[in-house]
Amino acid sequence: MTGLYVHIPFCAKKCHYCNFVVTTANTSVNHAAFLGALEKQMIFAGDFFQTSELDTLYLGGGTPSVMSKEETIILFDLIKRHFRIKNGAEITCEINPESLDLEKAENYRRMGANRISLGAQSFRDETLKRLNRPHAAKDIANSFQLLRKVGFDNISLDLILSLPGETLDDVKNSLNRLLELGPDHVSLYELTIEPKTVFGSLSKKGKWAFPDEDLQVEMLLLGRSTLKKAGFRHYELLNYAKPGFESRHNRIYWDNQEYLGLGPGAFSYIKGQRFMFAASYLDYLQKIEKGDWSNSEEETLDAEKKEVESFLLALRTYEGADTGRFHSLMERMEENIQNLEAKELLASTGGRIRLTNRGQLFAETVFAELSSLTGR
Ligand code: SF4
Repeated sequence: MTGLYVHIPFCAKKCHYCNFVVTTANTSVNHAAFLGALEKQMIFAGDFFQTSELDTLYLGGGTPSVMSKEETIILFDLIKRHFRIKNGAEITCEINPESLDLEKAENYRRMGANRISLGAQSFRDETLKRLNRPHAAKDIANSFQLLRKVGFDNISLDLILSLPGETLDDVKNSLNRLLELGPDHVSLYELTIEPKTVFGSLSKKGKWAFPDEDLQVEMLLLGRSTLKKAGFRHYELLNYAKPGFESRHNRIYWDNQEYLGLGPGAFSYIKGQRFMFAASYLDYLQKIEKGDWSNSEEETLDAEKKEVESFLLALRTYEGADTGRFHSLMERMEENIQNLEAKELLASTGGRIRLTNRGQLFAETVFAELSSLTGR
């Protein structure tokens, strides 16, 4: 499987928790400059990303849906001109609820998108304002219904837990409203407070009440049990799908397979090398203007690193890791794996090793312990 990710760096405004590469200089002039630069990057990338056909295409960001219908047509034309997309490929587009209208929704269908990821995040207006999100709860329902109306039968909703000022009842309410819409896939994240964000500085100054650890665990357990009861399969640490609606694009990441990332801040993983071309929107435009194709970040994964990474990624999934495939790595980690099994964080059965329910709550601790062993 091979995938292409295209990062659209524009947003209406910046959310207080956002650590992505985005700009709020969101005008048609900027969109045109970006599309021009993107085409040059596609031409350059085509030389080393020699794939016959793409299995998946993912337009993320940022907010791809802030681009107009005409700009979106140009974007799809560029992609189709420079890459071959397999028949039946999964084509996902991220959408923010306030930026969708009927014309745009119909256009995504016409362009071939067959999966939508809609950024709901919360169904509580007060929380959405606190996050500096540009939408209200009613926009989520409106855009969801619009997407169904034009024929999208594969819609994912994102929800963030552990948000400032939220109670367990608020989470219950958001989950109920999400389920009323009837999505096919749900991504359930916990808020991560990154230092260089508004929340990072508020939290440092102790100015905002974020849920304490016990409440965070309760929220996560509530989210998991509610979605499972509603028929979703918890197929990856953060992701839940109705049968047959698992994300194929993300599967490429979890299986540690190759992908190309275009646009600022996008990572690629090709021939054992992980790299990012440009770390900011302006750097991206300037480097392409100058014809400077050096990478801003790059790392070569040797066989050991790749194996550890593949093992940890496999542990994120419902299937877990194949103990036969990772036999020699697991031998080197034997003592620590036994220790994690004794703490009921990992369990081995039927030739697979998996995170237990408890291990899923402390997954980062498990990953840190296993990766520290090999100096990853
Ligand atoms: S919409 Fe997404 S990418 Fe844009 S500012 Fe908010 S979190 Fe960041």
